[in-house]
Amino acid sequence: TQKVVLITGCSSGIGLALATRIAKDEKKRFMGYATMRNVSKGEALVEAAGRSLGRTLEIKQLDVCDETSIRACVDSLPQRRVDVLISNAGMGLIGPIECQSLDEMKTVMDTNFFGLVRLLKEILPDMKRRKKGHVVVISSVMGIQGILFNDVYAASKFAVEGFCESLAVQALRFNLNISLIEPGPVITDFERKVYDEGLKTDLSNADAVTADMFTNIYLKNYKQIFETLGQTADDVAEHTLRIMTSDNPPFRHQTNTLYTPMTTLKYADPNGDLPIDTFYKMVFEHDKIFNASLNFLKLLRWRSRRSFALDKSN
Ligand code: NAD
Repeated sequence: TQKVVLITGCSSGIGLALATRIAKDEKKRFMGYATMRNVSKGEALVEAAGRSLGRTLEIKQLDVCDETSIRACVDSLPQRRVDVLISNAGMGLIGPIECQSLDEMKTVMDTNFFGLVRLLKEILPDMKRRKKGHVVVISSVMGIQGILFNDVYAASKFAVEGFCESLAVQALRFNLNISLIEPGPVITDFERKVYDEGLKTDLSNADAVTADMFTNIYLKNYKQIFETLGQTADDVAEHTLRIMTSDNPPFRHQTNTLYTPMTTLKYADPNGDLPIDTFYKMVFEHDKIFNASLNFLKLLRWRSRRSFALDKSN
């Protein structure tokens, strides 16, 4: 039997790539419901899905900020069954917090965090009853590590991770799986939208140092980071497919090995200073990056020696 997969935010980016990949699966293992807030923005998916539309893929309306639309969408599925939920819809926000309104910040939290909460309130009880289901959440490396001028976005992804980590314990009791996919930079509309909005930021509320940091350091390096580290949406879709078809899916999965050394810093230092100092040096003292990397290696060596010593004393 086919697995029923419901994906949110499919008009562009990772959602569009994943919905297309699922629809065109050679073994026809899936029945995909590609959802989007505004179905009139579905042309790209209609074109990409081609003949699979109406066979292994259907497009449905779903706004993660609207409980009624979530209920209507789930009610329209045969037996309301969802085997795999892919929570992908999301939005970014960059800039100094003194230049952002609370309403803008709340929209990010409402979409990225409460959007997931709303989906699970509707879908998780059915999964528990069936004792079957997999919740796959497109989080971010910013769900485990904050990044300069991404304060509220990172907070929204941290919220997602805390929520899922708590639920994952309960899920085990019902034989359900929860997985967080953590991409680094992905080249999608997201990146362009966030950058364009960033350029338009009214910096009059920021002091000169902050405004300069944002314009001349952050925005200047933004494109370069995506160009050197960026993955494609198809690549992230492939990773996600691998996780959702795995017999024993992991709770966390990072999709970009180029980025892993950065997230490792967090786990290497329980005090939490190492990633913060390293990011600082990367941004403000390029020449010191070498020393920072060296310190990191020293710390790793110290830790492995110490755990070796502890092992021996047992
Ligand atoms: P994207 O902007 O192309 O896709 C996001 C989609 O979510 C869009 O189609 C948008 O219309 C949809 N969306 C926004 N609000 C919605 C709502 N209320 N209801 C339904 N849909 C809504 O960008 P993307 O990169 O494909 O983003 C997908 C996910 O990947 C997001 O959760 C994002 O946080 C995450 N992510 C992106 C990157 C990146 O660098 N692009 C990196 C890590 C994680």
